[in-house]
Amino acid sequence: MDAIPAGRFDPLAAVRTPTAGGFDLLLAGTVFQDIIFTGLPHAPQPGTEIWSEGMGSCPGGVANQAIAAARLGLRTGLAAAFGDDGYGDYNWKILAGQEHVDLSLSRRVAGWHSPVTVSLSVDHDRSMVTHGHPAPVTPSELIGEQPPPALAAVADLGHELEPWALAAHSDGVKLFGDVGWDPSGEWSQTRLDNLQYFYAFMPNQREAMAFTGKENPWAALYSLADRVPVAVVTLGQQGAMAVDSETGEEEWVPSLPVTAYDPTGAGDCFGAAFVVGCLAGWPLGDRLRFANLCAALAVQEVGGSLAAPGWGDIADWWK
Ligand code: ATP
Repeated sequence: MDAIPAGRFDPLAAVRTPTAGGFDLLLAGTVFQDIIFTGLPHAPQPGTEIWSEGMGSCPGGVANQAIAAARLGLRTGLAAAFGDDGYGDYNWKILAGQEHVDLSLSRRVAGWHSPVTVSLSVDHDRSMVTHGHPAPVTPSELIGEQPPPALAAVADLGHELEPWALAAHSDGVKLFGDVGWDPSGEWSQTRLDNLQYFYAFMPNQREAMAFTGKENPWAALYSLADRVPVAVVTLGQQGAMAVDSETGEEEWVPSLPVTAYDPTGAGDCFGAAFVVGCLAGWPLGDRLRFANLCAALAVQEVGGSLAAPGWGDIADWWK
């Protein structure tokens, strides 16, 4: 991948040479088409028509974090399947053409339709409707046996860790864990054991408690901190808390008091910003403050992935 273009902010300039090859962050997964309706007066009832105040249509799924990371100046590579349809065209153009995400490891998949998620927000409650089939190519098939050099990568904490993620771990890439969806609703011991390969894991409080079997977010956080160097639990409008066992730091940082219009992708935006802070070597409190700030700016806009802030949006807040 090219060096950061002249004039774009480079948050990692101090920790690597600007001409270093490879990616700052490698992401893998599936790109969805998100269609978002906000400000509904009430949940839709059978046989009725209601109007929403706001509406957004944007790349979703793994694209959320890819766009958030690229907007924060990370050299971001994405290995993803794209549908063979108009949504696939649109999402490819947005990611590669507008958002500077490197798609050299991604592929349009002939005959496969983009999965679609419709999100409906009534006050602070959100319902989602998703349609689609799993992508017929896996991230490991897209990436190959030898992942490209990267400082960090985000991988699903699935029942079986993808071979590309294991190879990246062996190469010294810092793995950040994402929650792999478990259709059975059960979080197995295998997944917890897989945390040994990760540098950081950042579930929301519901996921953290389901994973660990603990009844409150703090207990879940400490349980995760026994297994992974950096454990984070996000708490929605209450902010986020984390333990860094390598530095001995432990923090809870409240989020910014903002009016949230669209929480779609808040966790992904938080995650991308937290990666920036980890790679830049910031103290844990600053990593959490920065991630809370980015996510709070994102939830004030309707637009899912395209509501993620860039450095221009953050500069006045982050001094
Ligand atoms: P999503 O599934 O919507 O991407 P999530 O469930 O993974 O999000 P949350 O814990 O809901 O994760 O939110 C992630 C982060 O986003 C929070 O830690 C916080 O920084 C920010 N955030 C979320 N909701 C709000 C809000 N109403 N006001 C301010 N910040 C918020």
